[in-house]
Amino acid sequence: MTDPLRSLLPELYQPLLPEVFDTLAPTESKATCASCAMCAPTGAPAAAAPDVTYFRPDTKCCTFEPRLPNYLVGAILADERPDMAEGRRRVRAKIAARAGVTPQWLAPPAKREVLFGAAWRNAFGRSLVLLCPYYERDGGLCTVWRHREAVCSTFFCKYDAAADGEQFWKSVRGLVGYVERLVSLHVTRAILPGHQPRMDQGLTLEELEDRPPSDADHQALWGAYAGREEELYLQSYERVRGLDRAGFQAILADEEYARREAQLRDTHAILTSPRLPPRLVPRPDLAARPADGGVLVTTYSRYEPLLLTEALYDVVQAFGGEGAVAEVRERLLRDQGLDVPEELLLGLHQYRVLVEP
Ligand code: SF4
Ligand code: SF4
Repeated sequence: MTDPLRSLLPELYQPLLPEVFDTLAPTESKATCASCAMCAPTGAPAAAAPDVTYFRPDTKCCTFEPRLPNYLVGAILADERPDMAEGRRRVRAKIAARAGVTPQWLAPPAKREVLFGAAWRNAFGRSLVLLCPYYERDGGLCTVWRHREAVCSTFFCKYDAAADGEQFWKSVRGLVGYVERLVSLHVTRAILPGHQPRMDQGLTLEELEDRPPSDADHQALWGAYAGREEELYLQSYERVRGLDRAGFQAILADEEYARREAQLRDTHAILTSPRLPPRLVPRPDLAARPADGGVLVTTYSRYEPLLLTEALYDVVQAFGGEGAVAEVRERLLRDQGLDVPEELLLGLHQYRVLVEP
C-alpha cells in the first residue's frame, strides 16, 4: 500500500476530497490489465472448463457503460490534451445522440441498463453487445480514463486480499458514487434551479425503440440548455473546479455520506488487520470439483477459483463439525499430527472458503 485513494481518482478531485481519501489503497497485483488476467492464457483449450469464465480479449471487463456525472463530462470536454481527443469525440457523439443524456449525467440509454441488469451474470466480459462506448478495441484502452467515474476507478476482477479486498473496494465505490450523486445534483440545481431527476417510470416508447427522446421531452428536461448541452456540462465542471475544499465538503454533509465514510474506514481496518474469527465452518455453498493437483473451489467470486491440495481440502472439511477454531486445530494436531498455521486459516477465511457460521 503506497498510494492514497485520492491519487487513483480523477485530477479534478485532488484538492477537494475529504481526508478519508488519504487512506492508502491496496495494490491489486493480480489484476494485470495490460495482459488481462481474465483472458484465456496462450495455448489454453478453446472450451474452458464449466466453472472457468474467460473474458474476450477485445472487451476485457469494459462490458459496462458508466454513468458519468455532469462535471466529469465537462472535464473531458475541456481537456484539450491530445490523448483525450478520441474520448472528447465519443462523448460529443453520445451527447448528440441524446439517449441517456441528462443535465446531471451522461448515462447509458435506459434500454441498455435493463439489458445489462438482465445479462451481466452470464455476459459480463463476454459480449460486444455490452461493450462500453468509450472503449478503444484496437488498443484495448479507455478513451476517458483520466476522468473515469466511481465504478471504473474501483473495479478489479481479482483481489490480493480476496473477499476482504473486494469489500474494501466496494465501499470505496459506494462512497465515490455517492459523492458523484451529491455533487452533480448540486451543480445541476445551481445551473437549472428546481431541476428534479427523472423518476424511474420504466422504459419510454422512444427508449424501447432505440430512438432519442421527443423534442418536447428533451426540452422539458433541459430547459434553457436544450441544444446547449455541452455548455451545461462545461459549466458544471467549472463550478466544481471553482469550489474550495470547505465548499466541496459542505455539499457532502449528510448522514448517508457519513455512513459510507465509516464503512470505508471499517473495511480498510479489516483489510489491514485481518483477524481470525473464533468459529469457522466451510462455506455452505462451496462449489468444488476435482482438478489436476487437487480440488478447485469457487467461493467469493466466480472470477477467482482457488485450487486446494487434497490435504488442504480435508483440513477445510475438518471444520464441518462442532467447536471453535482453536479446538479444531487442537484436534487436527492430536489426531492427525497436523499443525495448521493461523495464517493459512486466515487466507482460507479471506477467500471465504471458511466462513463464520
Ligand atoms: S481488471 Fe479488467 S482489464 Fe484488468 S485484469 Fe481484470 S478483467 Fe482484465
Ligand atoms: S469508461 Fe473506460 S474503464 Fe470504464 S468501462 Fe468504459 S472503457 Fe472501460
